[in-house]
Amino acid sequence: MKGLAELGEFGLIDHIRARFPQPVAPELGIGDDAALLSPSAGRQVVVSTDLLAEGVHFDPGFGPARLLGRKSLAVNLSDLASMGAIPRWFFLSLAIPAGFSLETIEGFLDGLAEQAAEHNCILAGGDTCGSKGGLTISVTIMGEQRPELILKRSGAQPGDDVWVSGSLGDSALGLKLLMEGVRLGGAHDPLLLRQLDPTPRCELGLKLAEAGLVNAMIDISDGLLADLGHICEQSVCGAEILLGQLPLSPALYTCSSKQPVFPWPLVISGGEDYELCFTAPRCNREAIQKISKTAGIPLTVVGKVTNSRQVQAILPDGTNFQPSASGYTHF
Ligand code: ADP
Ligand code: MG
Repeated sequence: MKGLAELGEFGLIDHIRARFPQPVAPELGIGDDAALLSPSAGRQVVVSTDLLAEGVHFDPGFGPARLLGRKSLAVNLSDLASMGAIPRWFFLSLAIPAGFSLETIEGFLDGLAEQAAEHNCILAGGDTCGSKGGLTISVTIMGEQRPELILKRSGAQPGDDVWVSGSLGDSALGLKLLMEGVRLGGAHDPLLLRQLDPTPRCELGLKLAEAGLVNAMIDISDGLLADLGHICEQSVCGAEILLGQLPLSPALYTCSSKQPVFPWPLVISGGEDYELCFTAPRCNREAIQKISKTAGIPLTVVGKVTNSRQVQAILPDGTNFQPSASGYTHF
């Protein structure tokens, strides 16, 4: 295989273009100074961007580059899912260290192309440069939705149920295991894969938005406490979470039963769950459970929205849980 230096910046861009289906005329994707894109009539464009820096967001030794490619788009898809938007296009910017292996880039592109195809998302452009540090990946995603269906963080009402999808804490526990040296190919794969290959809840987010049953929604990237905190801030309310009701996977239970104390901080503040957290009026419970069944994704009521201005977590014994940190922050 050719090296990156031989291929050069424009060779690499040509190679990337050849690997991804391009927008069809009159739209314009990779190759000009800017892309030309048209949202469907009556829909608003929904845009989000996420940065993944080597050593900060990922360690190349933790898993194959293919999974890093899948995750780079998954975290962006998750942001669109939380708004109830339909993914359409994405942009890929790469800062690549000199001498980087083309095989690794190939693996990364394989995963990215898989995830893009799974969600009908078209690569419409990006930027490519060298890096004096590690590999840095930035993906910008664009989706669309009818404005009246878009779900924001700001709509929660006191008395609403607080719901979460799937299960919490698996990804954070997976990361802990990876940092302890555990690798794919063993009994811990379900946990490691929640960290290395998260599943964005796109279809679920879209169904919830279209059904008009939800008041506010967010995706859980920084941990339930922190992200529900964002809903509460934007909605000017508080929330009460019953830890005993949080959905936990059998894998997390098995692993945690060996610990002297239950790892609540991992579950509520570990982050990178990429599950959806939303609030909805109590009278919508049944309709929401129906959506859960159709989508094949568990949805659980874990607490309620309150008039206070804080997020309280209540332990199974009824006492207040005081976390030492309420989620990951960079600085
Ligand atoms: P500029 O000089 O304006 O930065 P480039 O030469 O970087 O333009 O980009 C040329 C075309 O290639 C543009 O359409 C751009 O969107 C696309 N492009 C560059 N890098 C990437 C990438 N990593 N992935 C997808 N498209 C890319
Ligand atoms: Mg450029």
